[in-house]
Amino acid sequence: MAASLIDGVAIARELYAGLRERVGALAGRGVQPGLAAILVGDNPASEVYVRTKTRACAEVGVHSEQHRFGADGSEDEIIGLIERLNADLGIHGILVQLPLPPRLNSERILQAVAVRKDIDGFNWCNLGALVAGHPGFSPCTPLGVMTMLDHERIAVEGRTAVVIGRSVIVGKPMALMLIAGGATVTVCNSKTRDLREYTSRADIVVAAAGKPGLVKGSMLKPGAVVIDVGINRLPDGKLVGDVDFSSASQVASRITPVPGGVGRMTVAMLIANTVMAAERHAAQSPGT
Ligand code: NAD
Repeated sequence: MAASLIDGVAIARELYAGLRERVGALAGRGVQPGLAAILVGDNPASEVYVRTKTRACAEVGVHSEQHRFGADGSEDEIIGLIERLNADLGIHGILVQLPLPPRLNSERILQAVAVRKDIDGFNWCNLGALVAGHPGFSPCTPLGVMTMLDHERIAVEGRTAVVIGRSVIVGKPMALMLIAGGATVTVCNSKTRDLREYTSRADIVVAAAGKPGLVKGSMLKPGAVVIDVGINRLPDGKLVGDVDFSSASQVASRITPVPGGVGRMTVAMLIANTVMAAERHAAQSPGT
């Protein structure tokens, strides 16, 4: 293997140490950061994600609570809960685990989360602030990628980057953050005619399509940095990304594994955003 791994587990561990200190400082002021997770239905992957996030909260001393609705939970019930959590002084971050059942209007539900508690960064105010270059809470996955690049001292400024995928939660905010970092960015999508034409010229490739094996070593510029956001469960149960790791790692200089790469960073950023929300709350309520 030519490429060296970017180890999301090790980076997240370091971040948790810093977060524990910040949680300790807040405790001195009588504040414990609190995260509320809302789960609707019984999607097994969502159960795993929420369990992972709850465990990470415990690791850094963040209070966490789960609110569950059956698959028949109504939009109004869920929004009613969000409004109560918006007003709850012990809760600083609210997370609605996606995907929601298709019969629900996800946009309406996500937009009900107060901007100051929107630790996933999906509220249009937070997304708009990102577009304007004044980020409030940024979506956790692209934020995790930027934190990883920064941690590994991988320069973004002046480099060419390709983002594969244009979703609101990953691809678009990823492109905006790379642009803010000074990269020249191309965003590809499922209609892109010749993906290789773009990836083969990129210094940094971020794959977020949800298509196993989409990016092969033959599509990469030698020495490229490859960030694999994809999480795909194969029929045999194996978890893989969007990058064909064995061929890509022969050509890239740095590469993230799946699992153990971006996924760990996403969780760490969620906790970091929750701690930041609690710090902002404490700063605005000097009596606490
Ligand atoms: P999505 O389905 O909303 O978007 C996928 C995007 O990929 C679309 O914009 C689509 O146009 C594009 N695309 C699909 N096929 C393509 C192709 N052949 N060539 C170019 N573009 C193509 O998915 P999403 O929510 O953005 O998630 C993308 C992947 O990232 C999924 O595998 C998801 O599980 C994973 N994910 C991982 C994390 C993490 O923490 N690592 C977080 C969120 C999502």
